[in-house]
Amino acid sequence: MQNFNEQKVVVTGASRGIGKAITLAFLEQGATVIGIYGGNKEAADKFLDECSRFDNQLQLHQCDISDPQQVETFFTQLEEEFDTIDVLVNNAGIRRDKLLAMMDEETWQQVIDINLTGTFLMCRKAVLLMLKQKYGRIINITSPVANLGFAGQTNYGASKAGQIGLTRSLCKETARKKITVNCVSPGFIETELIADLSPEQVKEYKKKVPMRRFGKVEEVAAAVLFLASKEAAYVTGTVLDVNGGL
Ligand code: NAP
Repeated sequence: MQNFNEQKVVVTGASRGIGKAITLAFLEQGATVIGIYGGNKEAADKFLDECSRFDNQLQLHQCDISDPQQVETFFTQLEEEFDTIDVLVNNAGIRRDKLLAMMDEETWQQVIDINLTGTFLMCRKAVLLMLKQKYGRIINITSPVANLGFAGQTNYGASKAGQIGLTRSLCKETARKKITVNCVSPGFIETELIADLSPEQVKEYKKKVPMRRFGKVEEVAAAVLFLASKEAAYVTGTVLDVNGGL
């Protein structure tokens, strides 16, 4: 189970946080990972060094997933080398929290552009490749905020709810071609994305989690690998929560 030998996997936001753990998990299982990072070259170079033991299994490309031209260029290069891909994980995402009444349009748009439009742009190109081979797995990383709401996160919540809506509709377009589309919804996971929380906030949020702890990146990666596996062939259009019971 969950052997990804000879599979080509694209992971966005691959060099840090949850995406890094997802990438490592795929590499351990024999996949070739074509990873994307946004702009932090230092983190990308550091991660490539860490992965030297995986020979040539990992590539990292700088690409702003919210820019249609950059996504186009990424896939053109990818197709030249690999023809197609088996798995796409739309993991890259940002938070720019602000109360709605104080939120300027740029702060709204930036989050929607990266989290939601980026997912759309990546799916659009990946689906065309997957349709040709009549096989594929797409996993979109959403958030509990999509359903629960969180003050200060109207932009983030809307983008994450949008990813779920996109997933549930896209899976119906691709089901007959054996392409599954699902979400993983991590709860509070210890990464740089939530590094701005104060110790008081961390204490308070942990109390809200029935398991009384934040999750680990590896726990999210395990859920992603299940949905990406051949064995998960009949699972599509679903949201798998990894949140300690939130
Ligand atoms: P993170 O540590 O902040 O990493 C974010 C990743 O996204 C980085 O690799 C970053 O690239 C990349 N990225 C940002 N903007 C990009 C762009 N325009 N184009 C391409 N890549 C871009 O975040 P994380 O905590 O691992 O979160 C990963 C996903 O999980 C996000 O979608 C987030 O919403 C979701 N999530 C996280 C939590 C949590 O508690 N951590 C909870 C629920 C959901 P650079 O390194 O180049 O900046």
